[in-house]
Amino acid sequence: MNLARQIEQYLPRQLLELVKDISGQAAKQGQRVYLVGGIVRDLLLGYPNFDLDLVVEGDAVKLAQQVAETSQAKLLAHRRFGTAKLRYENFTLDLATARKETYAKPGALPAVTPGTLKDDLIRRDFSINAMAIPLAANNYGEMVDPYQGKNDLEHCLIRILHPESFSDDATRILRAVRYEQRLCFELESQTAQLLKRDIPMLDTISGDRIRHELELIFKEKQPEFVINRLAELEVLQRISPFIKGNGWIVEKFDRARRLNKPTQLPSLYFCLLIYSFSEGGIEQFLTRLNISAKLSRAMRDTLHLKASLPLLDKSSLKPSEIYYLLREYEPVAIQANAIASDSSMIHHHLQLFLTKLRYVKTSLSGEELKRLGISAGPEMGKVLQILHKAKLDGEVRTKADEKNLALSLKASNFHTDPEPPLD
Ligand code: ATP
Ligand code: MG
Repeated sequence: MNLARQIEQYLPRQLLELVKDISGQAAKQGQRVYLVGGIVRDLLLGYPNFDLDLVVEGDAVKLAQQVAETSQAKLLAHRRFGTAKLRYENFTLDLATARKETYAKPGALPAVTPGTLKDDLIRRDFSINAMAIPLAANNYGEMVDPYQGKNDLEHCLIRILHPESFSDDATRILRAVRYEQRLCFELESQTAQLLKRDIPMLDTISGDRIRHELELIFKEKQPEFVINRLAELEVLQRISPFIKGNGWIVEKFDRARRLNKPTQLPSLYFCLLIYSFSEGGIEQFLTRLNISAKLSRAMRDTLHLKASLPLLDKSSLKPSEIYYLLREYEPVAIQANAIASDSSMIHHHLQLFLTKLRYVKTSLSGEELKRLGISAGPEMGKVLQILHKAKLDGEVRTKADEKNLALSLKASNFHTDPEPPLD
């Protein structure tokens, strides 16, 4: 099957000319370049994807260096892996030397040696990701599809390439479900059986690699369906016995997307994922996935705040009281609780903190207070705190209001509490 016409229609002109030029430069040195992986899959499906992967039968790093010299690209090369990234203004290109992989033991990173396109395709995860399109002039567009990936695309199937695929690399279990849900495909029946058989092989995968796959899931448009399906297949339970996929996750992830910027979503999803965990469960999860210190703090804060939510369920709370209840928590933990809580009062108080209270600052600076005769040290600390509280509660509004309050505090010698009545 020749896809020359489809490529010309699918790729933006600038990108098309660039890949042809790269292929031309490679040909001069007897090397061949192919489009591979996701781009071929998405081209056949008609889905946009300008995240191009090129495989080079030859030396991808050297080729990328030459291309970078003659175009406006920034080069990032990993000589050890035989890969290079060319970064242009509007897109990036990944070039990889065609490679052969062998697995010394399940879950280990594979030993890599240079190989042919065929070697490079057999090491891949699924038939739909193991297709290539040559860019060389003599067979430009002539699809290479040794595992009938096109046929599987037409039948909406996710299929591994050999029976030991999941045990060689159990991250493919998570990847299989991610593609299944993204594309609304099904696991081919033998693939589904092998996936179930090899769930215990997830124990051979490092925390960093499992976390990376979860991060990829959280970049999907609707990660909740991947999470639910992973729970249904009992994959998630192997990573942590405490995770539940259910209707709750569907509703809350959807709400998270409606209320937040895309950049905040991955950490928010992590906090919602562990919302039903016990303290012990979360520590096991953080260790298993080697979660960063910052995200760990947000996830622990999520559960601590969840335990304190009843304190926020009162209509009589003053803004300053809300502020002092929440100021120590990571904002994402507060956001997660705002999404998780079914009480509109709690939701309102958490949102008030996130959108307004946490940004409230006094207008008077330390320098200005000094000029009013308030000395640096505990005295100034106390004045600033009172000013801040008054500002939160709307008792002072302007800088002049703050100045008057500071002066009256000074005049009363910083006695802020009402004097006890005389007998
Ligand atoms: P997308 O980025 O849209 O999820 P993609 O196909 O581009 O899809 P990447 O994760 O960018 O996926 O990986 C590029 C290619 O590398 C895949 O198409 C697949 O062929 C191969 N690949 C990635 N991870 C694995 C893995 N664990 N085992 C085997 N092959 C893999
Ligand atoms: Mg990709």
